[in-house]
Amino acid sequence: MAKPFPVPVRVYYDCRKCPGYCCTYSDIEITDYDIARLGKHFGLSPKQAEKKFTKLDDAKTAKILRHKQDKIFDSACMFFDQDKRCCTVYAVRPGVCRKYPAATHCGYYDFLRFERNQQDDKDYVALT
Ligand code: SF4
Ligand code: SF4
Repeated sequence: MAKPFPVPVRVYYDCRKCPGYCCTYSDIEITDYDIARLGKHFGLSPKQAEKKFTKLDDAKTAKILRHKQDKIFDSACMFFDQDKRCCTVYAVRPGVCRKYPAATHCGYYDFLRFERNQQDDKDYVALT
């Protein structure tokens, strides 16, 4: 029998305690649907949004989010708030961001937690 509500899944990471490592991945792929949704949010046409927010990856096959220099890592997605370490377009973020990490564990968070325990510093930022 189908469940009337989604079953909550326990996850072993807490994005609120993380410096947002996943938002610093160089190739964050974005679909035309994502681009149109972001454009609508900013009052831009899909073409304008594509030009402003995306570029092609090195292989010139996929559209990826533009980056800007980051205060902690080399660079981060242009929509990343570098002081609050969170997404500024959360409600209209691309599908790939919604799905990540698509598991009960986040590899970076496991590493971060290990390093914080080792250093006995709950705010320690682990660089990879
Ligand atoms: S790296 Fe993992 S814990 Fe950190 S913000 Fe991304 S999903 Fe959350
Ligand atoms: S759109 Fe938001 S969640 Fe996705 S990479 Fe950029 S800052 Fe992170």
